[in-house]
Amino acid sequence: MSAPRHPALHASHSGCWLHDGQGSARALSKGQAVTAVADAPHLILNAPLLATRLGYPDLAGLDLLELYAFVHPARFVVPTPKGLADALGLPRPDADSEVPELLQRAAMRLLETCEQPDWAEREGAWTSLQSLVKMRWPWAKLLAPRLAKPQKAERWIFTRLPEWEESPEPPQPRQLNIPDGAVLDRLAHLTGQGAEERAGQKAFAVEAAHAFAPRTRAGLPHVVLAQAGTGVGKTLGYLSPASVWSEASGGTVWVSTYTKALQRQLRKESRRAWPETRPDGSQPVVVRKGRENYLCLLNLEDALQGGFAGRAAILAHLVGRWAAYTQDGDMIGGDLPGWLGTLFHKRGIAALTDQRGECVYAGCPHYRKCFIERATRASVNADLVIGNHALVMINAARGRDVASRPTRIVFDEGHHVFDAADSTFAAELSGTEMIELRRWVIGPEKKSRGRRRGLAARLADVASYDDEGDKAILTALSAAEALPSDGWLQRINDGEPSGPLEELLAAVRATVYARDESGGQEAGYGLETEAAGLEGPFVEASQAARLALSELRRPLIQLALRLEALLEDGPDWLDGQGRARIEGARHSLTWRIDLLVAWENLLERLGGPADPEYVDWLALARSEAREFDIGIHRHWLDPMKPFAKVVLEPAHGVIMTSATLRDGDSWDRAIARSGAPHIEVSPRLSLSPSPFDYAAQAEVLIVRDVPRGDIAALAAAYGRLIEASGGGVLGLFTAIRRLRAVHGRIADRLARGGLPVYAQHVDPIDTGTLVDIFRDDPGASLLGTDALRDGVDVPGHSLRTVIMEQVPWPRPTILHRARRMAGGGSAYDDSIIRARLAQAFGRLIRSKEDRGHFIVLSSAFPSRLLDAFPEGTPISRISLDEALQRVAGHASGNLIATPADRTDRG
Ligand code: SF4
Repeated sequence: MSAPRHPALHASHSGCWLHDGQGSARALSKGQAVTAVADAPHLILNAPLLATRLGYPDLAGLDLLELYAFVHPARFVVPTPKGLADALGLPRPDADSEVPELLQRAAMRLLETCEQPDWAEREGAWTSLQSLVKMRWPWAKLLAPRLAKPQKAERWIFTRLPEWEESPEPPQPRQLNIPDGAVLDRLAHLTGQGAEERAGQKAFAVEAAHAFAPRTRAGLPHVVLAQAGTGVGKTLGYLSPASVWSEASGGTVWVSTYTKALQRQLRKESRRAWPETRPDGSQPVVVRKGRENYLCLLNLEDALQGGFAGRAAILAHLVGRWAAYTQDGDMIGGDLPGWLGTLFHKRGIAALTDQRGECVYAGCPHYRKCFIERATRASVNADLVIGNHALVMINAARGRDVASRPTRIVFDEGHHVFDAADSTFAAELSGTEMIELRRWVIGPEKKSRGRRRGLAARLADVASYDDEGDKAILTALSAAEALPSDGWLQRINDGEPSGPLEELLAAVRATVYARDESGGQEAGYGLETEAAGLEGPFVEASQAARLALSELRRPLIQLALRLEALLEDGPDWLDGQGRARIEGARHSLTWRIDLLVAWENLLERLGGPADPEYVDWLALARSEAREFDIGIHRHWLDPMKPFAKVVLEPAHGVIMTSATLRDGDSWDRAIARSGAPHIEVSPRLSLSPSPFDYAAQAEVLIVRDVPRGDIAALAAAYGRLIEASGGGVLGLFTAIRRLRAVHGRIADRLARGGLPVYAQHVDPIDTGTLVDIFRDDPGASLLGTDALRDGVDVPGHSLRTVIMEQVPWPRPTILHRARRMAGGGSAYDDSIIRARLAQAFGRLIRSKEDRGHFIVLSSAFPSRLLDAFPEGTPISRISLDEALQRVAGHASGNLIATPADRTDRG
């Protein structure tokens, strides 16, 4: 069949090019490009990105990424012309002007794939296409003639997925000490024959093994704090004792990470120690995430059957294609392309997960195929579970059963445990949270689509059998009417709050506006004020709200008790599936009851004396001056206190490891932030320095002459440094506003010189994909904020310069102020800054071959912060011109010199 003759359009920061199917591409203005795409559908790549480049938000066309998602669901592609060319085995374009032709070839290649008899992802495509034709998906017409109707009717996606198997609860792990020799032998096996001997890695593995020794007293786990510099190879270092222990004891080890990048890496590295499947088909290694990450098949079924409309319905069909080929159903950071949500609607992806906790468990027709249930069950019998910090904490706090609670845990990226504990153990009484609870109890309001049903519908059979249960459900429904409902924010803005909780939120808003002195009002940022010195009417409103919440909590407790009674002494018709469903409902009830208790406690104290354990404040969440939430927040002054009780105390062995646990040379901060002192455990301390030669591989340049607060000068400095480096720059900002301003000033000019600059918060691309794009193109640079400071692992030439716009001071929030006061004032700030600098520096040198510059634009960089950088790293305070020479020298192949006179550690 002949190739599609569609015109193709490409736009970058350096210009626009169109190929009309004849001759070669021609350059055109933005205005001409907009007219062209408005007149006829064009082949394009990444419509939202193109729309931003053209300043034309309504842009639509034949997006190659959508076609790719249909033809190769669950297959990785970097969503750039080069990435697409690589994925399809086509020649890479050398210039922007060649991209339109590439798009035409790529379209042809993908369409032709559908005609090939050996197309791996054929099953389900024809059926899915029939629906997409009806929805007028732009590609459907082009695909239809190429996709032959299968001779045998295709199985429905929900029939095709495999079922999980029930398995018995595992016995307790054996208690044993693992000898050093076994650990080292395993390490040698994992690193492979001929691998370079790494003394630091061996020592690390032996130290880590101590965490697996039997406990001597209840409540006293072994805690190992292990700082291992970049390049030590700590992953295999802890996987060695972990795999020896799990093999010998039959127990499960959890490895917890903070970033998805490390999770992906761990999944890969664990293959050295464990096979993909055991002989019985079960998985020895399981990746676990929060339920809100996975596709809920019942939500997908709803969406496919009319619950979604317009573009969202097309998204549902593409997700349906993916569901049949995914490894584990993980939609956020798994094998569903991160860009798919941006092409359609991010909320579309969220609506397909189980975000609202509306799972009906065994009452669900897809229960036996459910991805979440599969992962939960698999992890109970796994040797290794790869999770994240928040999930490990939540599982320890309220795991569905004892067997799923982690007892041997390795917290990699251990420097983030404090932040994860801070959010996990916090309470937030906000409009958004309350409306979620309302929907969970009552169900959605009338105009909402989809399956979402309230408590009454989910427990209809219990209500019909058990009068008391029925009464409790009805009382809960009526009490939940007091919670904010749709339109709450508008009513509060109009001065017409409805019910005690909306009235409280209105009082919070008024108080925040009255008291805020942060300067954020004009800048459009979120606002906050401490919850102290509150007036009588505020306190009255909070007590009325507390009463309303307790009136909802009471019937929920009643209902939980009824469900418990049913489980103990249930009717004959209550089979295994019914019991599992009631067990599930009871579990989610307990979670809601705990939430209500936390909210009531928070309100009870407002107006009374402050509790020194907590920091309470009122906040107005805003984005670019638009209010989107109002709430009262409570955080632990030291979140490691609940962490120690909930996670450490029941555990038997815990390792916390990172390249940046310590503060300079001191362990004090690492020990305090492990939580160990709260349960009177003295952690074992282990230090493995990086094997890298920082003196030869890296150089820190502190540029003195870029004036603080001068955006034009900051942008000029970034632009010149990126040019000098020839791209390969990771630019880190502490404020989104400055990031956008700098990007806006330099992106077009640099792109015209062949140096594309991507940016978080500017480009409509998720962070993971941005990092993939950056890694894939050595000429590209990437600007971003916090998430990039330690979520980027790009060894090799693609990352050779890191630039920090200024000293990364902590934001002066109310929570920060309280912790600063408790933690020693400016010394507390310094420890935070040193940690941030060390993490950011850690992005630069990822392998022995890496070379690069770490640049801080700061006229007054305090010398006391210099020990954030690894021992031996040369540090110079120089002018921008000198820095440009150094960077350009490196870019042209001169190795970094290390004259002793340039070292300045103050
Ligand atoms: S069991 Fe729950 S999460 Fe799984 S598919 Fe059914 S409703 Fe969704």
